[in-house]
Amino acid sequence: METEILSIAADEQPESVRQKLSHAGDIIKNGGLVAFPTETVYGLGGDALNPESARKIYAAKGRPSDNPLIVHIADMEALDAIAKRIPEKARQLARAFWPGPLTMIMEKTGLVPAQTTGGLDTVAVRMPGHPAALALIRAAGGYVAAPSANLSGKPSPTTAKYVIQDMAGRIELILDADGAELGLESTIVDLTGEVPVILRPGYITQEMIARTVGETEMDITLLDGDSTQAPKAPGMKYRHYAPKGELALVEGSPEAVVQYINEQARRHRGDNKKTGVIGTAERIADYCADSVKNAGSRRDPLAAARQLYTFLREFDDEEVAYIYSEAFEGAGIGQALMNRLLKAAGHKVIQV
Ligand code: AMP
Ligand code: MG
Repeated sequence: METEILSIAADEQPESVRQKLSHAGDIIKNGGLVAFPTETVYGLGGDALNPESARKIYAAKGRPSDNPLIVHIADMEALDAIAKRIPEKARQLARAFWPGPLTMIMEKTGLVPAQTTGGLDTVAVRMPGHPAALALIRAAGGYVAAPSANLSGKPSPTTAKYVIQDMAGRIELILDADGAELGLESTIVDLTGEVPVILRPGYITQEMIARTVGETEMDITLLDGDSTQAPKAPGMKYRHYAPKGELALVEGSPEAVVQYINEQARRHRGDNKKTGVIGTAERIADYCADSVKNAGSRRDPLAAARQLYTFLREFDDEEVAYIYSEAFEGAGIGQALMNRLLKAAGHKVIQV
């Protein structure tokens, strides 16, 4: 299939933007797929109420069809149509964080086909904060199922370049616009029980949720990398976000981390293999490797979170065989960052 690529400039005239989004919305309404930016990462959108669209999404991504899709909406009426017995806590969280990078799991209504939810009787719902994403959802009829727009297993794309790399030839349209600036996928919180449970950490932290609705738990499988229990978000069990090179996290004193990584880089160079490093600004000048990425200050894990997937994709482009990353503080957004890094590394952590 030939994939159309449409760019929307930051200063584009509203009427021209409207026309492009209306064209994209028509494609989704007619059962086709459109990749589009949200404020987290690029999504691969199809009609959430059309089982055939769900099937196409799984096929385009190469994603196992037991891994449910998030339904993106643009207004609260849409939530009432797809979720039932909506808990008061969900409404409070929606008021506090929607539109924004928070996904909530609730009981689904019959309007949502089983194909969209991977056979579950719950549905994941998000109202994204990106203006073009909201306008596209409206133009597409109000319910857009959209996983990240990458091939299954690869890092989520934060720029159109990597969407094109993965999806060209597989979907009808790619919208190229700015704004996927948070860089990590939404926080997922399960509201089907008495106490909300975070299934995937993200920009909206446990503290922020607890401040709004009281006691909030973390899914046990997130806290323990070696857990043999199945995670409650089916997608969290799959290998994810993985670059082609072998990634490991290195933990220890700053001097020991730098020394260990530089030794490994020297060793790999001897074998004619490239080494990549993700380091913080405070230590970046000390690294000696083929590709060194500056994740910003240690005190600002948000900057690292924004860039992580771009770094992983760039290492692929550069054919880096071994990647070492510093570890980050596991609080707030740092927890989301560590969650993705650990998954990308298959939980390989080297203590030095
Ligand atoms: P992605 O679409 O790539 O951001 O991934 C969506 C994530 O949400 C996956 O980890 C899914 O397993 C999870 N998810 C979607 N729907 C549900 C649901 N009804 N219950 C639990 N997890 C869900
Ligand atoms: Mg994904």
